[in-house]
Amino acid sequence: MQEEFRDDAVQYFDAIVVGAGLAGICAVYKLREMGVSVRALEAGGGVGGTWYHNRYPGARCDIESLDYSYSFSNELQQEWHWSERYAGQPEILRYINHVADRFDLRKDIQLNTRVTQARFDETRERWVFSTDTGETFSAKYAVMATGVLSVAQVPSMKGLEDFKGEWFHTGDWPRQEVQVQGKRVGVIGTGSSATQLIPLVAKNAGHLYVFQRTPNYTMPAQNHSMKPEVEKEWKANYPERRKFAWASGFGHNQVSNHLSGKEMSPDERLAELENRWQLGGLYMMRAFKDILIDPEVNEAAAEFVRDKIRSTVHDKATAEALAPRNLYIGTKRLCSGTNYYETFNRENVSLVNVQEKPIDCVTAHGLRLAGGKEYELDILIFATGFDAMTGAMNKINPVGRNGLPLRQAWAAGPRTYLGLCVAGFPNMFVITGPGSPSVFSNMVTSIEQHVEWIANCISHMRSQGLSAIEPTAQAQDEWTDHVTDAASKTLYAQSRNSWFHGANIPGKPVVFMPYVGGVGNYYRKITQVAESGYVGFNLSTARMPS
Ligand code: NAP
Repeated sequence: MQEEFRDDAVQYFDAIVVGAGLAGICAVYKLREMGVSVRALEAGGGVGGTWYHNRYPGARCDIESLDYSYSFSNELQQEWHWSERYAGQPEILRYINHVADRFDLRKDIQLNTRVTQARFDETRERWVFSTDTGETFSAKYAVMATGVLSVAQVPSMKGLEDFKGEWFHTGDWPRQEVQVQGKRVGVIGTGSSATQLIPLVAKNAGHLYVFQRTPNYTMPAQNHSMKPEVEKEWKANYPERRKFAWASGFGHNQVSNHLSGKEMSPDERLAELENRWQLGGLYMMRAFKDILIDPEVNEAAAEFVRDKIRSTVHDKATAEALAPRNLYIGTKRLCSGTNYYETFNRENVSLVNVQEKPIDCVTAHGLRLAGGKEYELDILIFATGFDAMTGAMNKINPVGRNGLPLRQAWAAGPRTYLGLCVAGFPNMFVITGPGSPSVFSNMVTSIEQHVEWIANCISHMRSQGLSAIEPTAQAQDEWTDHVTDAASKTLYAQSRNSWFHGANIPGKPVVFMPYVGGVGNYYRKITQVAESGYVGFNLSTARMPS
């Protein structure tokens, strides 16, 4: 065989993994285990991805800790102790660091290295990566573990550069503590990040102004210390617990009610909703099998939550302003927090409605709304979300076959086969990409599912001497249509003003991006079918030695 030309200025690996969050760490572990030479390139100064950057006060997972953890090592899941039902950001970050150390993964992870370009070299059938450190890497496989909520979105606001106070985004929170004691703090946004942050900032701030454009539904997390008997039961039954999660719709162990809300009497319905409220967090979305399908059933749940808001918030006008209207519950990601609505009973907290009078500009000393009213602030916090699902990939903008940039391929919205691969981008794998269950699931389950698929695919390619794999345009079109079609049967299709649709980013195509069909069931079957015969893929045999 012909000797491959190697450039001394280039670092060669079998696989480059972009990102060292939960997905990247899992990919490095798995690929290395099967003898693939791998390097993860991570822009941050530490591992952890989302959990490295989102260190705002109150940041916490809303999937239970015992579920939101890797299953790939029984020793790991047995030895790790979670201190709370829902782990906070510091504990999750400690866990990810523990995994990196325990499996000696750090030697294959390069921190402080942002991938600035990725290009498929068709002649060599290899990906070439450039980084902001001035390095060049070449790899047969590009594993994009870039995260789905990793590009913080600061809305463009006139005057921000003139603001004399400090400002932060929840998704890019500084490592040092932000001192809010006695200060006038403004929070823009009332999504998941804001609802976690607001109660904690309120405790210490001199005054907190919450600038709300669209109220969302916030469930009480019902978080508490880990109960020893619960931990013991899980650890005794982890294989069954994981199996259940993998076969379930959402990739975790939350039990769903399989009845339609319409099959229950009003009293039964109410009892189920109260039960879900007490269970806390995302359990509400499993109250009825048709909660996201039937407007009437959805409205019953929505009104139940509005009643809870009314009975919690003392000031009537504030309660009404916090209660969402014309928004199907769950069609904007449900929030889960602790003492969120109670916080608005504090003397030092004001809710400012910026729907009717939007924020006009940032001034040197605060925020001015349309109409001229000004709020003086020392600290401004943007809890304004992310360029979700496509932001990180589009930022790198990989260039595939025939010089096709991803942004062009996705100009009308993301198109993938199974949320894993993109036509025209051979040997590029996206972990939990658009078109996969990802954000509708326990992300760790979805990550492990995808990493396993990618590992099996690479193993198949190696054993068969294949040099490139990519989905056919037809398979991709059919899958993308199926993703849209699945969403169209739900209430998501009628609530387009969410990041699920990309509607929070000006100019982004409004297309429903995740797959609502669930992790288990059909999605698991179809990914397995795709793997068993690589139906829907073009495979090519080696042109060059790899
Ligand atoms: P988000 O859900 O997108 O919320 C952003 C908020 O900022 C919305 O209330 C939005 O209002 C508001 N906003 C944006 N631009 C604005 C502007 N120009 N003026 C006024 N308001 C503006 O973002 P997020 O809270 O960071 O959450 C994103 C996702 O991350 C969540 O949905 C969840 O999937 C994940 N997350 C999970 C957890 C957890 O596990 N518990 C915690 C945090 C985040 P509009 O609705 O009117 O656009």
